[in-house]
Amino acid sequence: MAGFDCDTLVVGGGISGLAAALTLKEKGVDVRLVESRGYLGGAVRTVRDQGYLLEFGPNSLMVRPEDALDTVLGDPDLSSAILPASTVSKNRYVVKSGKPFPIPLSPWTFLRTPLLSWRGRLDVLSEWRVPARTAGPEETLSHFVRRRLGEEALQYFVDPFVKGVYASHPDLLSVDASFPLLVRMEREHGSLFRGGVKAFLKRRKRPGGFAPRGIFSFSGGMSDLVEAMEKKLGEDVGTNVDVIKYTRLEEGFRVALMYDETEYYMTSRRLVLATSAFHAADLLEGDPDGPSAELNSIPYAPVTVVYAGFSRDQVPHPLDGFGLLCPTAENRKVLGVIFSSSLFPGRAPEGKVLLTVFVGGMTGQKMAQAFDEDLERIVRKELSELLGVTGTPEFFRIHRWEKAIPQFILGHGETVKTIRKKLPPGLRLAGNYLEGISIARAFGSGVRAAEELLSEGASPG
Ligand SMILES: Cc1cc2nc3c(=O)[nH]c(=O)nc-3n(C[C@H](O)[C@H](O)[C@H](O)COP(=O)(O)OP(=O)(O)OC[C@H]3O[C@@H](n4cnc5c(N)ncnc54)[C@H](O)[C@@H]3O)c2cc1C
Repeated sequence: MAGFDCDTLVVGGGISGLAAALTLKEKGVDVRLVESRGYLGGAVRTVRDQGYLLEFGPNSLMVRPEDALDTVLGDPDLSSAILPASTVSKNRYVVKSGKPFPIPLSPWTFLRTPLLSWRGRLDVLSEWRVPARTAGPEETLSHFVRRRLGEEALQYFVDPFVKGVYASHPDLLSVDASFPLLVRMEREHGSLFRGGVKAFLKRRKRPGGFAPRGIFSFSGGMSDLVEAMEKKLGEDVGTNVDVIKYTRLEEGFRVALMYDETEYYMTSRRLVLATSAFHAADLLEGDPDGPSAELNSIPYAPVTVVYAGFSRDQVPHPLDGFGLLCPTAENRKVLGVIFSSSLFPGRAPEGKVLLTVFVGGMTGQKMAQAFDEDLERIVRKELSELLGVTGTPEFFRIHRWEKAIPQFILGHGETVKTIRKKLPPGLRLAGNYLEGISIARAFGSGVRAAEELLSEGASPG
């Protein structure tokens, strides 16, 4: 390949960048990946500390057979490390009037759940009778759920779920961008109830893939996934390499890189920016026709993750579930708690339990920035009130993400369309702000970026 240092340069070694680089490499393209941190994986990072296994980012993932990520899980090293979540993980608790109650999983428990009043239950049960909205302006998630399921289901089912997934509030999110499946169910089947039944029946007939049904992780934690992808990429990866400037050439691209306090330049025929939206915005800032402003307009929620380890006998709650979530209406200081040592084995030393507590989000920006000592005091108080935890934790650690989760607010779909339109030939973006925030969607965005570049025509090498 004449004149360029490599055919395609991928900037960013998170899941989306790794997916883009792997897809290109498998097609025989001369690809390099550079990552500013000293390790790959981005938000996916597992750390071991005093016998506890901590996930700084995602604790688990879910993959459908049609997701591109499913094929990576067929790798023999990785598939043998897959760890399906324990059966108790189906239980999820939601806090009401200061107490955790399980989310109902059957019609019988639904009819008896203290999470909804009789009126609230009736609203949910009559969802199929609500006329379907097939056109009209984009709605917030709150508006959509209130219209179809009623106020109580919004407050005690959907709001806590949104806190757990987006660290957000249903008033802030576009239903079309953040939960497109709900909108499709209403449009195609007339109600969530009918759409849900059809989806369930279809799922049962579908052939399985490599991924287990439901959520899973790996025996060494989520970093096993990153290591497997890193191994496949081999030598074509550089860490501690920060891309600081991007220039569009007549043909191809030139980027300035910082490595070991020295500036280098690298040219490539094609470029993938697989960073957060705000990092891509910084890099594209000098390009007057580029989508820097649109990228910068995507808000991010801060999340602070607090790990607390206790002796089992300090926690009277059975911890028989995935964790608990706190609805906005409950005014708690934490977003939710994952019962990490109940979810997967090997997350805490023998006789101990690990609780992973999430703080902050779009409605708790100040909490996310609280001093360590204040956070410790607040988290201990919340765990004592919600789970009856007594005494001091034998293990305590904090990890902060200043900009953790992109927010799919009203207009997000249009913003992404404009971003894509403004990209010059040879340049693609990948990342969790484009197609969805889950690991599977971030991976899919990387595959899409690579496939679009390949289909632009030029032969590899
Ligand atoms: C606390 C938390 C919990 C989560 N829980 C779950 C979960 O349970 N399940 C799930 O499916 N998903 C979860 N997610 C979401 C999921 O982890 C992310 O959406 C996904 O990992 C993002 O991947 P990415 O490649 O888009 O971005 P990132 O992982 O952010 O990767 C981008 C990379 O680009 C690098 N970079 C940026 N600028 C430059 C530059 N100039 N030069 C070189 N490199 C650069 C960054 O250092 C970073 O490594 C969670 C996320 C967080 C933060």
